[in-house]
Amino acid sequence: MALMLVCVGCLLAAGAVGAEPPEWVMVQEGRLPLVITAPHGGYHEPPNWPVRTPVGDKIQFNLQDDLYTQELAQELAAALQAQLGQPPWLVAGQVRRRYLDFNRPPELAYTDAVAAPAWLAYHGAIARALQATTAQAAHTLLLDIHGHGRQAQRPPLYLGTQDGRTWQALVQKCGIVCTWGPEGLHAQLQALGYSVPAVVPQSLNGGYTVRHYSQMPGVSAIQVEVPRVLRADPSSRLQFARDLAHAVVGLVSSD
Ligand SMILES: [Zn+2]
Repeated sequence: MALMLVCVGCLLAAGAVGAEPPEWVMVQEGRLPLVITAPHGGYHEPPNWPVRTPVGDKIQFNLQDDLYTQELAQELAAALQAQLGQPPWLVAGQVRRRYLDFNRPPELAYTDAVAAPAWLAYHGAIARALQATTAQAAHTLLLDIHGHGRQAQRPPLYLGTQDGRTWQALVQKCGIVCTWGPEGLHAQLQALGYSVPAVVPQSLNGGYTVRHYSQMPGVSAIQVEVPRVLRADPSSRLQFARDLAHAVVGLVSSD
């Protein structure tokens, strides 16, 4: 826990806070204890940045963008504002994943240190958001928006929590009712017709962002892995954004 607090302090002291270069990170300031992040949906190709090469764990090495997740994250933020009357925080990485993976620790996120300030700007923005939300409310929900390419007759929507470890603050807030129970995201989304398996493939079950920030007291984090069919078609994506917002509303309170 202490390490996490020190790390947030480091990020906040890094100088990029509040002035994130827009070509690296998009930030929309919020008023709800809700933070939406999207690390893999950016389009920017920084001139002269080398394409990443594997460092360390090659199994988790991936250059593929999560297409249309930036648009989905924005539509989700807009839907939440429409339903709750206040905006959530939104932090979206703008650099293509082939140059920088925002959802990795810095030692695995980039090959060349030229990308380090962009990584710091992204995580500095998340730290700033969480500093604001945790000062405002006892519980903050962070939704990290991703896309997966797995096919099925009903393509699954995965909610990655490291088998429940990254939503411990939610368990403390409202127990089984709002995690695996009727007010939880699984039940809410299944009631709306989505396939949301309880078992999540290991590679989709919660990466750096949700693992790291859920260590902060009062912060629950869920990795939302969205199948391509719900991202690529604009009308399906908008409907999903509204449905996800509807499912999330019950988990957000300003207590
Ligand atoms: Zn991703």
